[in-house]
Amino acid sequence: MIPGLMQTRQLQIIDILAYAATAHGDVEIVSRLVDEPIARSNYRLIRARAERCAKALLKLGVKSGDRVATLAWNTHRHFELFYAVPGLGAVLNTVNPRLFDKQITFILNHAEPRVLFFDKTFLPLVERLAPQMRTVETFVMLAGEKAHIAGEVEALCYETLLATEDDGYAWPTVDENAGAFLCYTSGTTGDPKGVLYSQRAVVLHAMGSSLNSAFGFDAFDVVMPCSSLFHATAWGLPFAAPLNGCKLVLPCEKMDGASLQELIVEEGVTFSGGVPTIWTMYLAHLEQSGAKPGELQRVVIGGSAVPRAMAEAFKKKYGVQVLQIWGMTETTPLGVIATPTPALAELGEEALDEAIWTRQGRLQFGIELRIVDDDGNDVPRDGESSGALLVRGPWTIQRYYRAPSDAADSDGWFDTGDIATLDQYGFMRITDRKKDVIKSGGEWISSIDLENIAVGCAGVKVAAVVGLPHPKWEERPVLVIEPHEGASLSKEDVLRYLEPRVAKWWTPDAVIFDSVPLTATGKIDKKVLRERYQSLLSNS
Ligand code: ADP
Repeated sequence: MIPGLMQTRQLQIIDILAYAATAHGDVEIVSRLVDEPIARSNYRLIRARAERCAKALLKLGVKSGDRVATLAWNTHRHFELFYAVPGLGAVLNTVNPRLFDKQITFILNHAEPRVLFFDKTFLPLVERLAPQMRTVETFVMLAGEKAHIAGEVEALCYETLLATEDDGYAWPTVDENAGAFLCYTSGTTGDPKGVLYSQRAVVLHAMGSSLNSAFGFDAFDVVMPCSSLFHATAWGLPFAAPLNGCKLVLPCEKMDGASLQELIVEEGVTFSGGVPTIWTMYLAHLEQSGAKPGELQRVVIGGSAVPRAMAEAFKKKYGVQVLQIWGMTETTPLGVIATPTPALAELGEEALDEAIWTRQGRLQFGIELRIVDDDGNDVPRDGESSGALLVRGPWTIQRYYRAPSDAADSDGWFDTGDIATLDQYGFMRITDRKKDVIKSGGEWISSIDLENIAVGCAGVKVAAVVGLPHPKWEERPVLVIEPHEGASLSKEDVLRYLEPRVAKWWTPDAVIFDSVPLTATGKIDKKVLRERYQSLLSNS
């Protein structure tokens, strides 16, 4: 080998903020806050605040490699920690506050942070769990006032900490392979597992996701992440936005239709992203109020399958393009994104829409895909043959935090736990999570496909399909429907809607009207549903 003669400057997250502050210093960052008015700043000011924050962290004893945890919403203060903590070579452990107490305590005692930053909303949670947090030495409330925790633990005030420092800090050089973010999966089966993103993975992911074949950002974009900063770093939007000089709008926890609409219109949001449930609420708000989504051009949706009806409504009623993504905490998290290709465009608008709306996304540079059968052999890339989805690349997990062995095999392939198909254009379609596949009479029924069809029926807000034990067929699908408020909808209406659209043997054995439980990451909680209706079909 002849060594390359270019510079070996490390890929560091802090350089993204440094770039934005230098090249786009006046570009605004707008943030809602808990119980405080909207805060307005810009990349230059936020860099100065991140510098102050870093100095405050050093005084609190935080060193390279230490973990710092957050229980926090989408605000500019949380955004500052996204840079200050990795900027020091420390690791930000973003904890999902929607998890059960037991899981939160598990995560904190597994990640072992020295400092915990939290929003005021979580004061009761922190009071409750503080005695069980084995390693937290300092609590800091992300607010402009002083807080006391249960008279025992004193919480410092974030704004006071920043006010005691001055601007300017010479960031250390951090190894690009150093851990930067520690995000735990929700642990629906077993304990949560920690995924430790490196500086390099986060920077490459930010560059990859900015491409025109992905989010396609430029400095005219106004980006509002409606996926949570605590869930896989809000799909990397806090990095991709500054890397492209985009204005950033942070909605705190206020993700209801009316609150989003206010920010979208008043701040000129062009691009937003979130799980389907958020957009169901948003579309319902537009429908009820007759309002229009301002300058909004693109909405990226993922985390669960995007209902075709949702993508169609966004485009046909409001001229907004839906980009479906598939990814997971283990892939930093972007895996694939559904964007057009010339070959598909040639087939006409309808065919193109169909391809985009019914597939999770297309192969992107930076993440390789394979679909394999039970023996590990590749299945044909024909859009029909399905198998286990394996992924590999520089922002894919190798090993869970503190796990004794690798999660990926010796060639780097990581089994996602999803079942999918791949076609000749590189489009990937998830048919199910392995554990949610319905096995009926030796054949597979895709719960995702059935849900996607059922949610298109007028009046349906959420459709969930689970396989329940059946004496003759092993499992049969059951459809649980949560209707829109005030909708009058009968089982017969639903079955009549499904009849021409699904194969007879896919028709659910029962249609139930009930509330649909969601997990801490906004997915349909099928485990709860399966338990709830466990013996429904046992006498069939
Ligand atoms: P959790 O902690 O809830 O598992 P993740 O975000 O890591 O959180 O979940 C990743 C999983 O979400 C994927 O393996 C896949 O099953 C599902 N998922 C993500 N995006 C999509 C999508 N567009 N369509 C269908 N399923 C998706």
